Amino acid sequence: MKVLVVNCGSSSLKYQLIDSETEQALAVGLCERIGIDGRLKHTPAGGDKVVLEDALPNHEVAIKNVLAALTNPTYGVIKDLSEIGAVGHRVVHGGEKFTKSVLIDDAVIAGIKECCDLAPLHNPANLIGIDACMKLMPGVPEVAVFDTAFHQTMPKEAYLYAVPYEYYTNYGVRRYGFHGTSHSYVSKRAIAVAGLDANNSKVVVCHLGNGASCSAVLNGRSVDTSMGLTPLEGLIMGTRSGDIDPAVIEFVAKKENKSLSEMMTVLNKKSGVDGISGVGSDFRDLDAAAKEGNERAQVAVEAFAYRVAKYVGAYTAAMNGVDAIAFTAGIGENDGKVRKKICDRLGFLGITIDDAKNAIRGEEVIISTPDSKVKVMVIPTNEELAICRETVALI
Ligand code: ADP
Repeated sequence: MKVLVVNCGSSSLKYQLIDSETEQALAVGLCERIGIDGRLKHTPAGGDKVVLEDALPNHEVAIKNVLAALTNPTYGVIKDLSEIGAVGHRVVHGGEKFTKSVLIDDAVIAGIKECCDLAPLHNPANLIGIDACMKLMPGVPEVAVFDTAFHQTMPKEAYLYAVPYEYYTNYGVRRYGFHGTSHSYVSKRAIAVAGLDANNSKVVVCHLGNGASCSAVLNGRSVDTSMGLTPLEGLIMGTRSGDIDPAVIEFVAKKENKSLSEMMTVLNKKSGVDGISGVGSDFRDLDAAAKEGNERAQVAVEAFAYRVAKYVGAYTAAMNGVDAIAFTAGIGENDGKVRKKICDRLGFLGITIDDAKNAIRGEEVIISTPDSKVKVMVIPTNEELAICRETVALI
């Protein structure tokens, strides 16, 4: 079956058409600047990227143009829309309502709407994408795959914040965690690659991209994760602060006469390794600046690695041990220097790294030495494939 995987952001829309039998992407693409002007980048498998500059005033037009690109006689990959058997949507926040992927119906749409409060930038965009696909492909089954669902197995002691309990019961204030599709996919692959028994396994997944999070996966189930009510908590990220003393917010707001929402923008968009270094959020730029002797870039990378190592240590305690550590996403998959920095801080766990294996790029590889007490590996994440599999399983 051919499955269209859709990931709708507020002004962007990523898509892949995947053949579920071969698990190969037939086409991948991205609509950018929706509601501003519009650009559609479409790449058929084995072909050249096509850039279409048609106006994209809203998500419905964006999806219409994606479907036109997929069926285009020159760069399309299917003859007819009837070849699309199902649509899988990435939905950011499922609250406590959605603990797994679901076939979308009116009740599910209402449930996703209820969670808009928790993800005001993301869930409304996801709903617009779902609505547009329903209009343009009536009768085609659609599935919602939630970023938060995998972490719904966390125990209460891991997800409760130590604030008045009514904030949890009245407003749903608790840790939810994100990147769940990636943590689920990567932890399963890690168990397979390390040859572990899924029912007797302790895995830490380090999803290190522009957004970054760690998770503790005990016997295949998430028992803790570093992102919280929102994706701001936890690791140091590209532009997000991760953990800070909450008192910093009031302290700086008073000094700089900033509002609460201005402070939240600072913590989301102007902090992280970008904030520390002043160089930027991309680790390639940070590595280059650090090499030239830029001290703030050096300390930003060091602080990033330190924070990840600290979380791995914490999650080892949470699971009373660790069998495997898996690195994934942009930095986790590509930056061997950062992986090495993190693992060097974890020598107390009996971890040793094989430098030649650590230099391999773009494939699943165990980077620890055979005598390392913990298996450390790189597992390229594939959220679209995971969404495709979930979609097929549900229909
Ligand atoms: P997200 O999906 O959260 O936007 P990604 O997982 O795509 O992020 O990761 C993007 C980040 O990965 C970039 O900002 C950059 O820091 C890092 N990255 C990508 N390629 C490399 C590379 N070759 N070397 C080092 N870092 C890289």
